[in-house]
Amino acid sequence: MRKITHVLGVPFDTYTMKEAVDRVMSFLSDGGQHIVCTPNPEIVMEAQNDKELMEILKASDLVIPDGIGVVWASKYSEIKIKERVPGFDLTQNVFEKIKDTDYKVYFFGGAPGVANEASKKMMKKYEGLKIVGTRNGYFKKEDEKDIVADIKNSGADILLVGLGAPKQEKWIYDNMRFTGAKVLIGVGGSFDVMSGNLKRAPKIFCKLGLEWFYRLITQPTRIKRMMRLPKFVIKVLKEK
Ligand code: UDP
Repeated sequence: MRKITHVLGVPFDTYTMKEAVDRVMSFLSDGGQHIVCTPNPEIVMEAQNDKELMEILKASDLVIPDGIGVVWASKYSEIKIKERVPGFDLTQNVFEKIKDTDYKVYFFGGAPGVANEASKKMMKKYEGLKIVGTRNGYFKKEDEKDIVADIKNSGADILLVGLGAPKQEKWIYDNMRFTGAKVLIGVGGSFDVMSGNLKRAPKIFCKLGLEWFYRLITQPTRIKRMMRLPKFVIKVLKEK
């Protein structure tokens, strides 16, 4: 049974990392297709004005908090979220679990070459992991049919889509049924990190809940998006 709590209308699962990984593993064997979303406060704010995104988040099978702000905000909700469950770490833990199984993974998204590089690095890191296809995330509408066919033909069980939010969530929602994948996860810029092109915040920043601050100082172009963070805090406090 899902134990859901709401942050500004977005339903979040209150799982720990371990429980979230177990949930993904159960999705792989239950015969269905499942969407996994990993919203941070920026996406929660985006969903306030984007009805389609909000509907997709509500229709997803696993929604985990990829941001300390969501964990903080949940203390004013029905159930307090126990811990942050970053999408990046979730995928890494799932790779560890499936590396000795027959489950197959496909990487879709990122600049040309990035998903391919990420796939090589991950197959080295998780020996036995089966990444059966990659495709960059820059495409025209007319390419979509071929992309979906390539994913379907690869027989991938898990499809990671890294097109940035909310593009990836909408893409997953519109194309899920044609891909044949059992678990579809929106992973944002994870391929950039897996490929080694982008460094993740040092552990100390994560521990202190300051990963957002690290991203801001290392990627100042994100400032406009990050201006949503104080708005998020104000809105949560206002609604409490
Ligand atoms: N991206 C893509 N196609 C696009 C736009 C973006 O594949 O049309 C990729 C981009 O190369 C990057 C990721 O999507 O790897 C977005 O990363 P970001 O860190 O902005 O993700 P978010 O914070 O939105 O989850």
